[in-house]
Amino acid sequence: MPKGVYDHKRKPWPARFWRHVFKTGPVPQHWPELGACWEWTGPADKHGYGRIWFNGKLEVTSRIAWLLAIGSLPTYDVLHKCDNPACVRFSHLYEGEAFANAADMVARDRQGGKLSNAQANTIREVYAMGQLNQYQLALKYNVTQAAIWYTIRRRKSK
Ligand SMILES: [Zn+2]
Repeated sequence: MPKGVYDHKRKPWPARFWRHVFKTGPVPQHWPELGACWEWTGPADKHGYGRIWFNGKLEVTSRIAWLLAIGSLPTYDVLHKCDNPACVRFSHLYEGEAFANAADMVARDRQGGKLSNAQANTIREVYAMGQLNQYQLALKYNVTQAAIWYTIRRRKSK
């Protein structure tokens, strides 16, 4: 059994996970179409991310939700469209490969010029106030999340 692949023979395992999931959690206010969050009610870290032992390692529950839906652990961080760290509903999750690829994209300037300085300033303000997350900003401005990430990190406009 390769590492990170869910072993279907160990039957009690998914049950052990789902036992701690409350499927009628809050509906994200900023994105009601997502539907109710499935909240992890088991052990969590101080930021509210659920934790579970898996393959001898303390894993984040959103990664395990990903594993149960896809069949393998995600390569990159799992992020929440709903901004609810406890949420383990697969449709509320996305893989943050954009973060890993951001440096590449910036180097190739694929996103360059898409956002005006005024837009960039607005994005930084909105993000700083916590009104929208990076994923939502990306949708709003029709750019990749990497572009938003880069915009936020680059505090000063040129
Ligand atoms: Zn959610």
